[in-house]
Amino acid sequence: MKTPCELKNTKGMAVGKDRIERFQASFRGEVIQPTDFAYEKARKIWNASIDKHPGLIARCAGIADVVAAVNFARENGLLVAVRGGGHNVSGRALCDDGIVIDLSGMKGIHVNARNRTARVQGGATLGDLDRETHVFGLAVPAGIMSKTGIAGLALGGGVGWLVRKYGLTCDNVLSFDIVTADGKPRLANSEENEDLFWALRGGGGNFGVVTSFEFHAHPVSTVLGGLIIYPRDRAAEVLRFYRDFTQSAPEELTAYAALIHTPEGVPAVAVVACYCGDLTEGQKVLKSLRSFSSPIADAIQPMAFPQMQTLLDGAFPEGNYNYWKSTFLRELSDDAIALLVEHANRATSPLTGIVIEYYSGAASRVGVAETAFAQRQAQYDLIFLAQWTEPGESQLHIEWARTSADSIRPFSSGLYYLNYLGEESEDTIKAAFGPNYEQLMAVKKKYDPENFFSLNQNIKPQA
Ligand SMILES: Cc1cc2nc3c(=O)[nH]c(=O)nc-3n(C[C@H](O)[C@H](O)[C@H](O)COP(=O)(O)OP(=O)(O)OC[C@H]3O[C@@H](n4cnc5c(N)ncnc54)[C@H](O)[C@@H]3O)c2cc1C
Repeated sequence: MKTPCELKNTKGMAVGKDRIERFQASFRGEVIQPTDFAYEKARKIWNASIDKHPGLIARCAGIADVVAAVNFARENGLLVAVRGGGHNVSGRALCDDGIVIDLSGMKGIHVNARNRTARVQGGATLGDLDRETHVFGLAVPAGIMSKTGIAGLALGGGVGWLVRKYGLTCDNVLSFDIVTADGKPRLANSEENEDLFWALRGGGGNFGVVTSFEFHAHPVSTVLGGLIIYPRDRAAEVLRFYRDFTQSAPEELTAYAALIHTPEGVPAVAVVACYCGDLTEGQKVLKSLRSFSSPIADAIQPMAFPQMQTLLDGAFPEGNYNYWKSTFLRELSDDAIALLVEHANRATSPLTGIVIEYYSGAASRVGVAETAFAQRQAQYDLIFLAQWTEPGESQLHIEWARTSADSIRPFSSGLYYLNYLGEESEDTIKAAFGPNYEQLMAVKKKYDPENFFSLNQNIKPQA
């Protein structure tokens, strides 16, 4: 085990104990230091591959704490990480030596059923949000796993079961409360700080600490959803059917395909579907999928939306090792499908999978320049998710993901979804921002000229 580190500035100089004590005395939340009992748990995220040792974790209780933490970090020249749900696969929520501004204690949610809006603090998870909105028969379009943080997800776009009908999560943000690098709390919406409002809808964690979001919620309560699982030897035909089925399906339906193993370790291919409209109509829409070929299991049924949102939680337990590669495809051609099946059959762990997601619909009707999120026309998104339990095997599984991603390159559009990127090159990050990168650099320069918020999919302040 590494010896407890101390708080150091970016030049490697230790920050005096007296300064830390003064900061602690002014803080309402928890200041967690390497010698504290709570530290080991607080420095971890779900992905065991991430092993960082921050010098200090400032678990904020409100906006005043966020302001205090930002000012303390700036005045002492600290490296800064911002933690929402901690789900970024490459551990951007954490840092070594510097300070983590941790929002996980800020989970307040207020739903206004009359206006169909939800105000949500920056540390809430999707599970927290779904629980509150569901009481009013509403839902905010977000991701598909209950433990993901709403903050990181919304700032990078946000795709999930409602994306085709109601758009990306960032398309449903009405306003942001944010603390910028100068320590000022600001509002960003269509009337105030409009450039910031534009940049926050797809520009990631580059512009400050978002303390709360106001979202538009939609009437979604019971959906028709679940998994259909087929044997792996039918994978190519199932994926070809999935491609044609998704192209012609109504926008109420979002469906992903996955080359996975069953919990018993049997290689399989699955389609996970969610229909968010009228249930009788949904039964008709899903009929062709459910009668295709001979599935091993068909668990599609009406369920409360929060239940749909937890169906896949078990596939990503805390403490396993994870490594991801992803890209958008130009098209899901027969040749691309054959290659994907070949790589799935060579997977080095039964926990590893390949997921294909199809969006289009409402998300594609927003103009590329209307928000910072640029990948509006992209259709099939592909993710190689390597997952394993033995730390000594890391290289083997990482190599599988890298080799698979390299081999699919001829079918890639060269574009990427920001939220699925792990540790990637500057060029890949730029490609994810696409034609909006220049404008994002200008907004970054205005609100964060010193690149104070750098541990993210970083946008350099324009020279
Ligand atoms: C198992 C799993 C399933 C996923 N499923 C989906 C999905 O269905 N759809 C989808 O779109 N994405 C999905 N993702 C990707 C997810 O959207 C991103 O990893 C996202 O960054 C997670 O947000 P977070 O707050 O949990 O992350 P964190 O790791 O806490 O933060 C990620 C980034 O956002 C910044 N950030 C976090 N909170 C704030 C804040 N309050 N203010 C400013 N910056 C902040 C961080 O600094 C960091 O750069 C999934 C990820 C995992 C691990």
